[in-house]
Amino acid sequence: MDGEWDAVIIGGGPAGATVARYAAEGDARVLVIDRRSVIGEPLQCGELVPTNAEMARLCPKVPDLDDLLRTPQTAISRLTDKLCIVPPSSHALEFEFGGQILDRVAHDQALERVAREAGAEFRLGTGVASVDGHTVRLTDGTTVRGQVIVGAGGPHDPLRRARWREQSLHVAVGFVLMDGDFSDRVELYFGSVAPGGYAWMIPKRGGANIGLGVQPRFARGRPLRKFLTEFLTRYDGRITYRGGGLLPMSGAIRRLVKPPHVLVGDSAGMVFPSNGAGIIPAMIAGRIAGQVIAEHVRDGAPLTEYERIWNAQMGCEMRASQRAAWLGSVLFRMPDLLVNIALNRMSRPFVWRAITCRPMFGLF
Ligand SMILES: Cc1cc2nc3c(=O)[nH]c(=O)nc-3n(C[C@H](O)[C@H](O)[C@H](O)COP(=O)(O)OP(=O)(O)OC[C@H]3O[C@@H](n4cnc5c(N)ncnc54)[C@H](O)[C@@H]3O)c2cc1C
Repeated sequence: MDGEWDAVIIGGGPAGATVARYAAEGDARVLVIDRRSVIGEPLQCGELVPTNAEMARLCPKVPDLDDLLRTPQTAISRLTDKLCIVPPSSHALEFEFGGQILDRVAHDQALERVAREAGAEFRLGTGVASVDGHTVRLTDGTTVRGQVIVGAGGPHDPLRRARWREQSLHVAVGFVLMDGDFSDRVELYFGSVAPGGYAWMIPKRGGANIGLGVQPRFARGRPLRKFLTEFLTRYDGRITYRGGGLLPMSGAIRRLVKPPHVLVGDSAGMVFPSNGAGIIPAMIAGRIAGQVIAEHVRDGAPLTEYERIWNAQMGCEMRASQRAAWLGSVLFRMPDLLVNIALNRMSRPFVWRAITCRPMFGLF
């Protein structure tokens, strides 16, 4: 498999698999390299995404979502239509929200399948050690070359580390899968339960995904696992799985392209920092990058087109989310009493606009 490719993609998660699908659909010869032997495993996710209809409301400038988001029924654990913000007082604010709770492993494997069907090749179980210009060196000692190299390796992406100086804030996140009966609504908890972040209970078929993320600088030396253990005492059920990971929480970086290198998904910080959602932004960016790469290979179109189109489709929502997260980081380090005062019926519309990445005060 060594050799020359139009695009070599580091990572076969939602970002990398989507770049691969659209670049291959545009007739580019694509190789995806992932250090995991099985795509999607081990699970590292809360598994909540908006339904396609909800997504169209949240990000109205993104075209043709039904072509991009073809989640098969087998990758959907259940649907929900309510989401609650729960302050320390437990006086929950409830909102209408069309959510899909995934079987994330099946979801990522479905994306891999679609990319393979489009003609992309995958090399699994081998990592990328380094990138030098067009040459990618793998951990098994072999090299491959690509006209374009895409960094879609998530928070630890080797291309981001090697070529980008800009730093992103990463929040450590821990979660469990628990068997049992849970409420039908998604619940997000704020305050000292998860300083600088939030805790979640996301109901699944026959159980729930329960976890939290904490910013270490607000945790006063207390480790993440202690916060998680304490939060889990609220629930009764058998834990069937424990996982964790890192979530980029400072928003998308400004430059996504340094030819011949391109960053997509978590490697470029493309998680909405006001709600921690990164799967769909990674796929939206992946489609744009894949289409631009195919045009670049075919007609020499500039790779920076990817950056321009991403900003046109997602720039407003990402900036609104970054501003809301900044305000949240000020608020959520305060004592619980103040968090209770801030999250009330009067502030309800502003809270919802912040969580859903819209300007909190209409204009800004
Ligand atoms: C605990 C947790 C809970 C989350 N919950 C949610 C949620 O409920 N909803 C939501 O929308 N988002 C959630 N996210 C965020 C979401 O998972 C990411 O935003 C999304 O996975 C980004 O996709 P990606 O393809 O950019 O990166 P990833 O999914 O991380 O994929 C990166 C891939 O690159 C591979 N890789 C890494 N380094 C190398 C290398 N050197 N060589 C080869 N391959 C490499 C990895 O093996 C991996 O397969 C959560 C994240 C975490 C950690």
